[in-house]
Amino acid sequence: MPTERNSNSLVAFEILESNVRSYSRSFPVVFRKAAGAVLEDEKGSVYIDFLSGAGVLNYGHNDPDLLHGAVQYLQSNGIVHGLDMATSAKREFMEHFDATILRPRGLRYKFQFPGPTGANAVEAALKLARKANGRHTVISFTNGFHGVSLGALAVTGNRYYRDAAGLPSAGVVFMPYDGYFGADQDTSEYLDKLLSDASSGVDLPAAIILETVQGEGGINSASKDWLQSVERLCRKNGILLIVDDIQAGCGRTGSFFSFDFAGLSPDIVVLSKSLSGVGLPLSLLLLKPELDVWQPGEHNGTFRGNNLALVTATAALQKYWTDEKLSQGVLEKGRIISGRLRQIAQSSANPLSVRGRGMMLGLDCSTGKLAEKIVRKAFEDGLVVERCGVEDQVIKLLPPLTVDEKTLQRGLDILDISVHEVSTMTS
Ligand SMILES: *Cc1c(COP(=O)(O)O)cnc(C)c1O
Repeated sequence: MPTERNSNSLVAFEILESNVRSYSRSFPVVFRKAAGAVLEDEKGSVYIDFLSGAGVLNYGHNDPDLLHGAVQYLQSNGIVHGLDMATSAKREFMEHFDATILRPRGLRYKFQFPGPTGANAVEAALKLARKANGRHTVISFTNGFHGVSLGALAVTGNRYYRDAAGLPSAGVVFMPYDGYFGADQDTSEYLDKLLSDASSGVDLPAAIILETVQGEGGINSASKDWLQSVERLCRKNGILLIVDDIQAGCGRTGSFFSFDFAGLSPDIVVLSKSLSGVGLPLSLLLLKPELDVWQPGEHNGTFRGNNLALVTATAALQKYWTDEKLSQGVLEKGRIISGRLRQIAQSSANPLSVRGRGMMLGLDCSTGKLAEKIVRKAFEDGLVVERCGVEDQVIKLLPPLTVDEKTLQRGLDILDISVHEVSTMTS
């Protein structure tokens, strides 16, 4: 047990934990508890959480209703681990997901439960696309992030992560994401041209994988038109469309799937992060029934479909997705945040801009240095918020979707003050 003397001490982490640790450097205290949108450290100091586990905690920390169901399940000797044996918890999850999310949208998918991480689900999606389609390459987009295992890393743009692989990545071609060359160039036309020209040197791929809002890549959001064009060119060229909705899904942009606004019907959808509702590891592939060409066990994993996580995931569907309340709240709070960010940007001496949609918003500070100073100051004042983009130049705001308005405003006040103080310090 930590004593009074060493509470919040990071010494044990410095001595015992690998150099690979990262968030404990940005937020150098020892966290002990959390509820809703608030974290507490060992000294009892509280922090407003605009990081939310990088999008894992869309319903906040320790939602009491979701936890209550989990505790009851454990106390009744519910199956915690069962490999991928049939369990009541899994049946209940699939039936609820089908009834509350898929059927109202006219979507039909089969469920695949891979290992519990997002990266493992992306691996499964890429494997399945290549196996079902028969072609070898996959097209991914600039600034895309899909995880750091070798297959997922191959479709991830950032050189910092790619260089750590120690192997060249094969079988992937990168194309410019929406807006990569600025607002006036439609990169889907460029892609369409390369794919229709048999002499372009670009092989027809098995699949195109994309995020509709790039989370790690800098809160770049694709327009409805661009997404629809990409889907059309997939259909035209026999290419499978994979939407990685790991970070942007589960309500972050206002509806359950981040592609609902564009009416897409992806061949494969990848979900993870907020799927379990409470931060338990769980990932899921939704695949069109005709793509289900797997042989039994061909993609497996010991921790497929963690039953406790399935119990909380079902509870989250029942609590948040049987009516429009959460979605409406996300759109309203999204407007509050983006309005406030625009004010902050306008009143700053530095060239700041606002990006993103729903409650997936970013404050682009142009340089990583400026963004770093701002988030460091914000943390001193009690706000946990992270950065993203190639140089970590974008401050990424991901408060829980369930955050109350007072806490939200308080967090934005802290950010406002930090931006102001840092710019007066540097000007
Ligand atoms: C976090 C993330 C992943 C990787 O998930 P892990 O659980 O960290 O492996 C993949 N894609 C996107 C869009 C993500 O945000």
